[in-house]
Amino acid sequence: MSHLTGDTPIRVLVLGAGFGGLELSTRVAEECGDRVEITLVDQSPGFVFGFSKLDVMFGKDSPEHVLHRYSDAVMPGVTFVNATVTSIDPVARTVETSEGTLEADILVVALGCGVDPAATPGLVEGGHEFYSNAGAFALRETLEAFPGGRVVVGVTSTPFKCPPAPSETVMLVHEMLTERGLREGSEIALVMPFSRPVPPSPEASATILGRLAELGIEWHPDHIVTGLDPERRMVLMSDGEEMPYDLFLGIPKHVAPEVVVESGMTQDGWIPVDPHTMATTYPNVYAVGDVTSAGTPKAGVFAEGQARVAADHIIAAVKGSTSDAQYDGAGICYLEFGDGTIAQVDIVFPPGQSPSGTLTGPDVALATDKTAFGADRVQRWFGRSWQPCEI
Ligand SMILES: Cc1cc2nc3c(=O)[nH]c(=O)nc-3n(C[C@H](O)[C@H](O)[C@H](O)COP(=O)(O)OP(=O)(O)OC[C@H]3O[C@@H](n4cnc5c(N)ncnc54)[C@H](O)[C@@H]3O)c2cc1C
Repeated sequence: MSHLTGDTPIRVLVLGAGFGGLELSTRVAEECGDRVEITLVDQSPGFVFGFSKLDVMFGKDSPEHVLHRYSDAVMPGVTFVNATVTSIDPVARTVETSEGTLEADILVVALGCGVDPAATPGLVEGGHEFYSNAGAFALRETLEAFPGGRVVVGVTSTPFKCPPAPSETVMLVHEMLTERGLREGSEIALVMPFSRPVPPSPEASATILGRLAELGIEWHPDHIVTGLDPERRMVLMSDGEEMPYDLFLGIPKHVAPEVVVESGMTQDGWIPVDPHTMATTYPNVYAVGDVTSAGTPKAGVFAEGQARVAADHIIAAVKGSTSDAQYDGAGICYLEFGDGTIAQVDIVFPPGQSPSGTLTGPDVALATDKTAFGADRVQRWFGRSWQPCEI
């Protein structure tokens, strides 16, 4: 960290108010008070947890209830700017937005990643993606109207967010079709690019595979979906194999936001960072979460853990000292197994070492922990109480 001096407050500019940006801003504000001016920028009306996408899609929650509006948030010490970031100069630490120019002493890029369904031939015309809010929310009506048939959930490219989410999705499709009396006349298949559902955890993978077998869900490992042929209703796969479908739910190609790519900060599509501190190669510029190639999966818990470490380094710099905080790569993930049961996967991706993970459950009691996970964060980041699943 380059030396920051002077009596005026240090300007910390955080781009993106998702898991990473919200946690980082909150922590720096708590610790630094009026020694900093924190500006948090996001173009969206509010924040949505990844798991809430599945809740809305499967009719367990409503789009309005899962949207945590920035306009309602109480964020002491943080100035929120609802604007689109249109250019980033990481050398000058100057950012252009739809609401004007912003300058920073310390810049944090936490802009997450977007999806590009059009990159997979036939996906837009003949299938659905559920990785954007719009895609997942629109699927609710499609699923409600689905008369039964062959449902294929498939991954079109790596990396992708929350690697257990496709496995959760097939189990929730099973639950939905069973509740609607359509399961017997239907088939469900999962196409994944990995040899097991949660690669770092053989234990979690064995439990998931056992449940898929029990539920009669087909498992197609080590395959990637390269396209759809909507006329023939066929899923096309990397090795030339094909598979029929009536309803395709896809995990689309993931990309860093265009403004990040145009800033010159990316290498091979993502921002490289020191995996221990989240510092970029630019002085006083950090990047956290899905926009980076930090070596962890793209998931909120990892973005949040990285944000805490970057925040500690920023707090130390503001106070004129240094921090020895190092990112440990640890995270907890709650997996929906259907019928209200949840499993907890504890995973660790230590920088430079092999990842590992353990699984607890699935059982109904863990639903309380998952609810607390969401409620605690809404309280901390938005200053209000919230419980998922109002329906
Ligand atoms: C179906 C599904 C289920 C998931 N389940 C889980 C789960 O159970 N647990 C878990 O940990 N993770 C889960 N995830 C993953 C999780 O949602 C993401 O990995 C996480 O949100 C990443 O955090 P982030 O801070 O890096 O980015 P984000 O949370 O995506 O935040 C980035 C922010 O940047 C803003 N932004 C982007 N471009 C611009 C711009 N040009 N100008 C202004 N603002 C911009 C966006 O509006 C966004 O608010 C799931 C994801 C999906 C799709």
